[in-house]
Amino acid sequence: MRAVARVNLDAISSNIRVLRERVDVPLMAVVKADAYGHGLVPVARAAVDAGAQWIGTALLAEGLELRRQGVTTSHVISWLSPPGDDFAAAIEENVDLSASSIELLEEINAAATLLGKRARVHLEVDTGMTRAGALGQWDQLVQRGAELMKSGNIEVVGVWSHFARADEPGHPANAAQKNSFDHALEVVSAAGIEPQVRHLANSAATLMDPSSHYDLVRTGIVMYGLSPDVTTLGSATKYDLTPAMTLVASLMLVKEVPSGVAVSYGGTAITKHATKVGVVPMGYADGVPRHGSNALKVNVGDYEAPVLGRICMDQFVIDLGPDSTAKAGDEVVLFGEGGPTVDAWASASGTVNYEIVTRLGPRVAREYFGVGA
Ligand SMILES: *Cc1c(COP(=O)(O)O)cnc(C)c1O
Repeated sequence: MRAVARVNLDAISSNIRVLRERVDVPLMAVVKADAYGHGLVPVARAAVDAGAQWIGTALLAEGLELRRQGVTTSHVISWLSPPGDDFAAAIEENVDLSASSIELLEEINAAATLLGKRARVHLEVDTGMTRAGALGQWDQLVQRGAELMKSGNIEVVGVWSHFARADEPGHPANAAQKNSFDHALEVVSAAGIEPQVRHLANSAATLMDPSSHYDLVRTGIVMYGLSPDVTTLGSATKYDLTPAMTLVASLMLVKEVPSGVAVSYGGTAITKHATKVGVVPMGYADGVPRHGSNALKVNVGDYEAPVLGRICMDQFVIDLGPDSTAKAGDEVVLFGEGGPTVDAWASASGTVNYEIVTRLGPRVAREYFGVGA
């Protein structure tokens, strides 16, 4: 075992239950990007078993993969389709789609008409994030949606938007976005559309602002037991959430080095005294952030060993201290249970916990434990 990400499916289930107790509306388990690096299918199954009635993915390929792997009991929505995506497959496999523009809605309708089936579509409105979602075109998009519900093969099942700053509770931008969403919903009802679900909240809004929940909340990061932002919202444990991932590797080599030697590419670290160093056989090709050079810490048993020098593509060096009894083959906990938190890694490498778990590459094996593994 060189490197493995251990994923605790019981933590996922427990987090879903905690969230379901907190909110009065159904939950969408967001499993985009290989379930934030945790593994698309096992996480989706655990989430469904724990009561998530919806599954959300970014890419259509992810939504289709879930259907083909037998995740059929929940609604699945994929919200990031460019023109030319396989809308026919989405309609056949009962994957809901999102439309931010009339052009895309027409393309979905054309695919549905060819199949002689109705496509389930969520209209996305830009309420202030200025990313996806219709802005100036909203009224026309809604109008066209209403027409295609009558004469075409479109069923508008949802209306939705996304927060830009939900991790800054109380920021006026959040109230402005809710306001804008309410206006967008008025346009929808004036057009005679009664959507089954109106949804706006991500994890941060789910935790902090019940008035943003509408009919459905889309929870991603919290489901993995991580806080949307430790500085503004506090750590995940404060909300009874349990981190689901532990990243471990096997020490490849332990050796004694004298004082004053330069370590790794560029010699950016120089040993201050004679010590033992360990070589960890993981690197940035696996998702260990190179920005964590000379900054990350890992655990070897109880010992917190700092990274010495640059993180390389496949390996990095840690300072085990002169008295270490560690030996090759010992387990190194990079983060998770028995090691630093994902948040500590994020702050040491200048990024967010989302990126730390999501960036783990395909070379890192995933091992599942807990019920359903
Ligand atoms: C990723 C994503 C979410 C989930 O965000 P979290 O902050 O992880 O809860 C919700 N909605 C959309 C549109 C997203 O892209």
